[in-house]
Amino acid sequence: MEPFVYTANPARVVFGHGTLSTLGEEMDRLGIRRAFVIGTPSQAAAIAGVTTSLGDRIAYTWPKPTMHAPVEVTARALEELKHSGADGLVSIGGGSSIGLSKALALRTGLDQIVVPTTYSGSEMTSLLGQTEDGVKTTTESPEFLPETVIYDVDLTMDLPVALSGLSGMNAIAHAVESLYAANRNPITDLMAEEAIRAMACALPAVAADPSDRQARSDALYGAWACSLVLGISGMGLHHKLAHVCGGTFKLSHAHTHTILLPHSLAYNAPAVQPAMQRMARAIGREDVPQALRDIADSFGAPQGLKDIGMPEDGIDHAVEIVFRNPYDNPRPLAEQPIRGLIRRAWAGDAPITE
Ligand code: NAD
Repeated sequence: MEPFVYTANPARVVFGHGTLSTLGEEMDRLGIRRAFVIGTPSQAAAIAGVTTSLGDRIAYTWPKPTMHAPVEVTARALEELKHSGADGLVSIGGGSSIGLSKALALRTGLDQIVVPTTYSGSEMTSLLGQTEDGVKTTTESPEFLPETVIYDVDLTMDLPVALSGLSGMNAIAHAVESLYAANRNPITDLMAEEAIRAMACALPAVAADPSDRQARSDALYGAWACSLVLGISGMGLHHKLAHVCGGTFKLSHAHTHTILLPHSLAYNAPAVQPAMQRMARAIGREDVPQALRDIADSFGAPQGLKDIGMPEDGIDHAVEIVFRNPYDNPRPLAEQPIRGLIRRAWAGDAPITE
């Protein structure tokens, strides 16, 4: 065993079907008397159900979170939060709802219960991406690590196939990069391999039958494991590229991850052979970048960044931004192969190692 450092992120996790019904008990555990609820519109019915049952323990419901936590939205929500008299935060939704909850926790110190309804993996991390004047900046602090995470498989049963697949690939990207992170450790290696296995099996099954309860349960379990390793491991080239392309060209977060992942992994593959072996074992195929691409195809994901709005002249711009700030990555960044990688991802070509 090589030397390692392992820091666990303290969070209570409740996983199962129908677990949203434990919200009141979980509020009691944290001593939350009245909650400020951030809810995604797609879960309006479930949110109405639980908030009605909790009566005056719900101080306010913020109905429409915005992706990438814009600071002006947070400022408006903060005003409502102050007027509401709430002493705790509850967010029910995807990464956008959880992002707003973290942004409010950062500004108030209030405890959070989060109920993720996509697979994107923000709930177990002390990472927060906030946008100001169009620029997204990521901060890390235990201040806004959610105290309790309730995973309720029932809330994911209606997650559309495309969103399931895209947010699931976003999650897989966390586990992939964890396997070659400089600060990886035996726990993250085990969790990341298991996370990729669970998610890689579950996503095509969800695409084939979105009402498959076992596949839904496996996918949410995989999402938990992916989020857990994201919360502990440093990320590499892939997350950098997703951040640069997504942020610069205002591309959808999950689409950008899904399209880029096979290409960024093909770039890193020669430098991370032990990680590639773990991934191959998890997925059951040696050609891991192409296998990831095939999983994306199974739910009809777009193939190229050009299909989601990135202009062709953005390729050079993206390369320039990547090299402006040096970034930790197992294979050193070289300009020509990085330009080739971004061009292939833009065009929707097959992933290759250059
Ligand atoms: P999202 O939260 O923006 O949700 C996408 C869409 O799905 C929304 O329209 C939402 O209403 C809908 N939706 C959510 N749950 C649903 C359900 N069960 N059924 C039907 N529709 C549903 O998407 P996301 O991909 O989960 O999150 C993206 C955001 O999360 C980005 O801002 C990204 O930066 C952030 N993120 C942060 C971290 C972190 O660790 N800080 C990790 C991953 C993602």
